[in-house]
Amino acid sequence: QFDEMVYVDKLTTIGQMAAAIAHEIRNPITTVRGFIQYIQQDTKDENLRKFSPLILDELDRTNKIITDYLQLAKPHHHELTKIEIDGVLEDIIELLKPLGSYSNVTLTYESEEKSSVYGDIALLKQSLMNVIKNGIEAMEDGGDIQITKKTNYVNGTVIIVIKDAGKGMTEEELQHLGLPFYTTKSKGTGLGSMITNRLIREMKGTVEYESEIGKGTTVTISLHLFQ
Ligand code: ADP
Ligand code: MG
Repeated sequence: QFDEMVYVDKLTTIGQMAAAIAHEIRNPITTVRGFIQYIQQDTKDENLRKFSPLILDELDRTNKIITDYLQLAKPHHHELTKIEIDGVLEDIIELLKPLGSYSNVTLTYESEEKSSVYGDIALLKQSLMNVIKNGIEAMEDGGDIQITKKTNYVNGTVIIVIKDAGKGMTEEELQHLGLPFYTTKSKGTGLGSMITNRLIREMKGTVEYESEIGKGTTVTISLHLFQ
């Protein structure tokens, strides 16, 4: 006889352990990163000059993997409240602009009027960042990511559209998107979209992906309007 309560309890314990271990691993990583950065300054050692950026990159990658897994392990009790979505979008865009300009990607934001949604600020930021980051990573030759927000008072929804002009996805790739560990990137974790879908669903919203190979991808997020 399958005992659901015991199953749920075990999952939570594993999640808590994962979070605790991840937390413990992060501290020494931060320390090592600091030391490498310190000794690479003014060094005359050729090897150290050459390899320290690689060491730092790999440490950052380790940190990223831990961050992504932590998102999964975290218990999620969120209260849906009134969130002024325009401010959140503007913050996220400002935060990601440096990452974009690194690969010649610009981010533009358009909103007809300010509106609020039912949501959780942390969940919103995390999910929007995951989507926009994927857009940036899909535009290796640069370009513009258009983020638009529309308010539909009749349906009581707020629609956020994130449109990139990146490499796009095949039908098959689109179907795998959101499955755990599905990634086409050498440094990907394949967790971002799964987390995004889960977080948006927790806010009673929906996510839709549309993509054409070589043309780009459009992600449409729909949330409940807070009237
Ligand atoms: P990761 O970014 O770590 O690979 P994700 O779950 O965020 O994991 O994405 C999974 C895969 O879906 C990516 O590796 C990529 O192949 C594809 N993908 C997601 N978003 C886009 C996009 N905007 N354009 C093209 N491909 C995308
Ligand atoms: Mg991603």
